[in-house]
Amino acid sequence: AKRAGGNRAVVFQPELQETALRTFKTEQDLFYALDRGELVLFYQPIVALPGERIIGFEALIRWHHPERGWITPAEFIPRAEETGLIGRIGQWVVEEGLRELAAWPGTELRLSVNVSPRQLSDGALHDALARALEREGVEPGRIILEVTEGALMDQGAVRELARLRELGCLVAVDDFGTGYSSLAYLQRLPIDVIKIDREFVSALGEDPKADRFMRALVGLAHTLELRVVAEGVETAAQRDALTAMGCETGQGYLFSRPVPSTEARALIAGA
Ligand code: C2E
Ligand code: CA
Ligand code: CA
Ligand code: CA
Repeated sequence: AKRAGGNRAVVFQPELQETALRTFKTEQDLFYALDRGELVLFYQPIVALPGERIIGFEALIRWHHPERGWITPAEFIPRAEETGLIGRIGQWVVEEGLRELAAWPGTELRLSVNVSPRQLSDGALHDALARALEREGVEPGRIILEVTEGALMDQGAVRELARLRELGCLVAVDDFGTGYSSLAYLQRLPIDVIKIDREFVSALGEDPKADRFMRALVGLAHTLELRVVAEGVETAAQRDALTAMGCETGQGYLFSRPVPSTEARALIAGA
């Protein structure tokens, strides 16, 4: 940036302008990414504790950009939400994810799919999901829709979730514990699973309070007859602590990173 006299920087900041341009390019590119087949789903195992048997996978989107390489969802999902493109992307995730699930052997494995609040506003997800379930002949109870607490604070979104649940799908609260909402919704709302955020898992073993807090969360979930998944399990010590607390499922780099479908199928075959 140019410097004016003394120590004041002038407003023109090339870095900022570059970010804005990059964002704009991303939006344009993202618009075509779907049609060009640049969006890809990776799959991360969710395992039973103890024993680490794979019980399902979470679908996590990536964008393979022809020039920029792999782009993480943190970089483009917020843009997609702002521009409304998330609707089409979300439909693609459901179609692609269910096609993959249908190719897995047996009928036990579940697939978790992330759903943005904005996808709950127009009914398009419901129709895409209903069609994909029908086409793939998948039992609806094998699908878990992951929503954050924020989405549960909106009346319209909650009604839409209830409608999705009527299809027979399950609903999970993602990143549980990171929102600022009242816990009352746990009793009231159409949910089946809570996914305890990585923040609480990574604190395990560092402070006795963190351990007691986690134990209380698992207990609360079970009291309400909800299932629990601990996210972001990275160490054997965390796994063991969670297992001792009665947390029945875990997900994290300790078990596996998110992998492409071919590797997911190999994990299933090797299990
Ligand atoms: P999330 O739903 O909370 O997904 C978990 C994130 O944690 C994933 O990041 C995953 O790769 C990462 N993770 C898993 N295990 C570990 C671990 O042991 N340690 C650490 N440090 N991280 C771990 P990812 O794939 O980059 O996704 C980020 C977020 O993007 C997701 O957070 C989700 O909110 C969003 N997202 C991903 N796919 C989709 C999608 O298809 N639709 C929508 N709407 N959002 C998506
Ligand atoms: Ca998730
Ligand atoms: Ca999460
Ligand atoms: Ca998260």
